[in-house]
Amino acid sequence: MGGKSVTKYKKIAYLDNAATTPVPKSVIETINNYYGCRKVSVHRGMYDLAGEVTRDYEHVREQVAQWIGASKSTEVIFTSGTTDGLNLVANSYGTTNLTDQDQIIVSIFEHHSNFVPWQQIAKKTGATLKVVGTTPDGQLDLNELEHLISSKTKIVALSMMSNVLGNLVPVKEVADLIHRQNGILVVDAAQSVAHVPINVQSLGADFLAFSAHKMFGPTGVGVLFGKEQLLKGMPPIQYGGEMVDQVDLKHTSFQNAPIKFEAGTPNIAGVLGLGTAIDYIQDVGYQTIEQREQVLMDRLLSGLRAIKSVKIYGPQVDNQHFGVVSFNVGDYHAHDVATILNSEGVAVRAGHLCAEPLMNQLGVSSVVRASVTFETTLSEIKCLIDAVRKVEDILK
Ligand code: PMP
Repeated sequence: MGGKSVTKYKKIAYLDNAATTPVPKSVIETINNYYGCRKVSVHRGMYDLAGEVTRDYEHVREQVAQWIGASKSTEVIFTSGTTDGLNLVANSYGTTNLTDQDQIIVSIFEHHSNFVPWQQIAKKTGATLKVVGTTPDGQLDLNELEHLISSKTKIVALSMMSNVLGNLVPVKEVADLIHRQNGILVVDAAQSVAHVPINVQSLGADFLAFSAHKMFGPTGVGVLFGKEQLLKGMPPIQYGGEMVDQVDLKHTSFQNAPIKFEAGTPNIAGVLGLGTAIDYIQDVGYQTIEQREQVLMDRLLSGLRAIKSVKIYGPQVDNQHFGVVSFNVGDYHAHDVATILNSEGVAVRAGHLCAEPLMNQLGVSSVVRASVTFETTLSEIKCLIDAVRKVEDILK
């Protein structure tokens, strides 16, 4: 695929793609091109180049809107990443709409980015935070959720795919449940976006956040989708240049969404890079992505299962791990395992994976996580399996 495939890291089997993916050369070229000969600000300049870069920047907003099925590009807010987007919803929508009579529901497997903002906003507003668990095989417990949701539930905030368990959540079913009670659904799509197509309308998402760096794009940039009607009623949470309409000594009026949420000079190179990352995914197509990942995950899961001391977390059915598998080896600490894997040239993540509530439920302090993209190779998977086989011999 030449310039169209991702840059590979030297001398390591990179299996930490759920933390961040490599980027294709095309994304690097877009960013280099911006910094090399087009680095001007957007929205402000009266000269041609500023107009051109502003058009390209705003084109990415339209591209994102089309890609995720938003009805208008004004429903697309550029953020610094998933964390930023989720904090924006919690602080703006949450503060405006929650009282001490209300409930927020999150799952036990949320990343801290979709857990702590809700916990903190619950403390601030007096709302109650409820936590839905999983079934024994690690799936969202829909029955429990159905019982928890009531007319008091204003917000359900859910990860579309757990960064630990790797399974997809039935988002549409959850959306139907919460919409029946006139509440809203906030979706954390940080992990799913590189693996499965996202359509905010068919998912029934009211808000949806993701980061470019987990989908072959640059760090420091992401997207928050929000339904137009909801964005309209939300106050900005950061103030400054660009997001204002008029300012006098006593009052300030604000622009409409999305600009009222984008104070200051944005990450222009990042947004342009995000556009190229979307081109890259679209060129390959999610069908190809899913097919290739299935082959990789089959190999990864069967290889790990063949090692007696390995315990795999999450779904026990193979085709329900979307790019991510977390495991432990015997009673060895995940950090020790990851250190050995590192000495064998294999890069994985180990720790609580920013999901401490889930770790507590699983009864472990940490896990090892191997994660792929469709560009991961079978020889990288083999390196991991061979290295895990050595762990016992070395640590015994
Ligand atoms: N949610 C999930 C499920 C994640 O895996 C991550 C990143 N590990 C985040 C949120 C936060 O993403 P970011 O750090 O890019 O803001």
